[in-house]
Amino acid sequence: MIPDAETSSGADLSATEIDAMCATAHWCYARGWVPATSGNFSVRLDCGIWITPTGLDKGALTPNDLLEIDLDGRAIGGHGKPSAETGLHTVIYRARSEAGAILHVHSVWNTLFSSRSDPRGYLPLEGYELLKGLSGVTTHDHLEKVPIIENSQNYDILAIDLDDVLKTYPQAHGVLLSRHGLYTWGQSVAEARRHLEALEFLFEVEGRRLMSREPVVPDILE
Ligand SMILES: [Zn+2]
Repeated sequence: MIPDAETSSGADLSATEIDAMCATAHWCYARGWVPATSGNFSVRLDCGIWITPTGLDKGALTPNDLLEIDLDGRAIGGHGKPSAETGLHTVIYRARSEAGAILHVHSVWNTLFSSRSDPRGYLPLEGYELLKGLSGVTTHDHLEKVPIIENSQNYDILAIDLDDVLKTYPQAHGVLLSRHGLYTWGQSVAEARRHLEALEFLFEVEGRRLMSREPVVPDILE
């Protein structure tokens, strides 16, 4: 059962987080970051994990659409069917004990950058003031490494690869799936949303910077 805002002060907070997640889904949809029912969102509350089910228009998401899952990704309440990527959320919740919300979007810029072939295995973001939008970063003089993992329709393999990069990059604020999208998280929906907005801004700035040097984006991303 979705927490009731009127039952206790703790439940007030839970209901607020669920409302904030729905508002964030609408905000992402308005920006074109979750086209064609793509993307997924979740919050971890004291009473459980609530996640968007598969095949839902994120622009019309309401609290009643959400699905409750356990840390193994099994549906235990709510509505709908778990998406194929539900297991990736539980990997992040296990690896990042502080995470209270996870946002996954398919924007044009994160899809372009995630397809970048880089022997380092990560996208470097460095020297930008907006890096300070990422928790714990206090100066533009910071190198944010956004790990990139190969996309797959085998979600067991994806879960293993995601777990590996979360351990290899303990300071990372997000992970890119190649030609797929971005996962980011935060202690709250507000923090996750700030990370998402900062990272998407930085992807676009870096992309436009590269475009100003070369006329065709795909060439410089090879
Ligand atoms: Zn996805």
